[in-house]
Amino acid sequence: MVPFGSGHCPVCLADTMRQDLPDDPALLGEGEDLWAICESCQTVLIYRHDGTFGHRAATDEERAAIPPKVVWSDEQRAEWQESLRQSKTDLRAWILAGCPGLTPEIERDMLPGFLDRIKRFVGLPDDDEGAPETHTEPL
Ligand SMILES: [Zn+2]
Repeated sequence: MVPFGSGHCPVCLADTMRQDLPDDPALLGEGEDLWAICESCQTVLIYRHDGTFGHRAATDEERAAIPPKVVWSDEQRAEWQESLRQSKTDLRAWILAGCPGLTPEIERDMLPGFLDRIKRFVGLPDDDEGAPETHTEPL
């Protein structure tokens, strides 16, 4: 029995996620390897060394280990968009500064057009459109 991280729960058979419970050897019983809780049926799954598994009802404490469903408030969404906007601003500043730290070796390893895509992403003209200041002018 391979422990599932994402897939079908062996108890409720739902396509679900498993949350590992704290790995405390003092709590585990004889021959038990791992406890995990199914997010769908909230059953504790017990994986044993010998490859078999068992299950039991979860305690309230164990149920609390299941992360709440992610529902973003408008405020959280706005914060996320703000942080995305900030990264874009930082990236733009980095490119305008001539990409400090970017060596020709790193640039060679990039996918063709990668830097141009970043420039377009942050709203800068890419080299094809004749950007006034490119840091690697061909000789
Ligand atoms: Zn389940």
